[in-house]
Amino acid sequence: MLNGPTGATRVAAVIGDPVEHSLSPVLHNAAFKAMDLDWVYVAFRVAAGSAAEAIAAMRALRLAGLSVTMPHKAGVAEAVDRLGPVAARLGVANTVFWSGSELVGESTDGAGFIAALRSDSGFSPHGKRCVVLGAGGAARAVTLALAEAGASAVTVVARREEQADACAGVAGVGATSAGLPGLARSVGNSDLIVNATPVGMAAGAGLPFGVDEAWLRPGQFVTDLIYAPETTPLLAAARRAGAGVSNGLGMLVHQAALQLQLWTGRPAPIDDMTAAVQAVLGSRGGKGGPRP
Ligand code: NAP
Repeated sequence: MLNGPTGATRVAAVIGDPVEHSLSPVLHNAAFKAMDLDWVYVAFRVAAGSAAEAIAAMRALRLAGLSVTMPHKAGVAEAVDRLGPVAARLGVANTVFWSGSELVGESTDGAGFIAALRSDSGFSPHGKRCVVLGAGGAARAVTLALAEAGASAVTVVARREEQADACAGVAGVGATSAGLPGLARSVGNSDLIVNATPVGMAAGAGLPFGVDEAWLRPGQFVTDLIYAPETTPLLAAARRAGAGVSNGLGMLVHQAALQLQLWTGRPAPIDDMTAAVQAVLGSRGGKGGPRP
């Protein structure tokens, strides 16, 4: 878009509440510019319980694509015409795209997580023992994606056992859950450790569930879904222990890149998207929005 929007400009958007600190407009507008697309991406604050109205609005306004963040991921999954395979397993959607006249909901979080691990960190989960700390929405997407990517074991640890069971259950036979008493063994025995809790975002935070640095070692890879701060206490501990590390920035970029591919059918300019979001995070002094 050379000189601002015109009558031909296509509009894509994110819905959520809160949504003001969403980094999705930064990611997608950088991509549209790099792709020379006459598209613009905006954020709409949509109140809890209004997902169906938002989907009706998308249809009426012919929005070109929709990203979905808290608290609408489950509501949107119910409101679209049909679900893609991952969203059907998870019961939530972070993306809506057009397929002919149908609106399709899909979840790109898990695939974005795996893409970031593989392409940014050179880590393949195939045949690896993995532990996921936390059992919320992001943990479910990651657990399913790890199981589907051929991990030899995925163990979910959460402070509420029934939530850990439910999270592991989403991935079927590929995942199991373990209570906090099994934490040291689960972490110590794993090749990949994923923090999918918000523990580490706040200043002065410790390690999730009291993970001990002594359980970490060279040969392991530790990834935190948090990207602000850039280095969480868990990642700092893993680095000291000689493990490989990555934060959640790669997942943030890759889940958006996969959305863009669903909307446009074209590959996403990952480097431009990464540079744009890094510039904004830098200007915020590392205080990013907690969610895409
Ligand atoms: P969620 O659905 O609210 O789940 C959070 C999970 O963490 C739950 O299992 C929760 O357990 C647990 N938890 C929360 N506070 C805890 C504490 N103090 N100690 C131990 N466990 C705690 O959130 P989510 O959407 O899955 O997000 C989780 C994290 O991933 C957030 O930091 C979010 O910013 C990040 N994330 C990053 C990306 C990315 O693209 N990089 C994408 C999505 C999410 P209870 O239910 O018992 O509280």
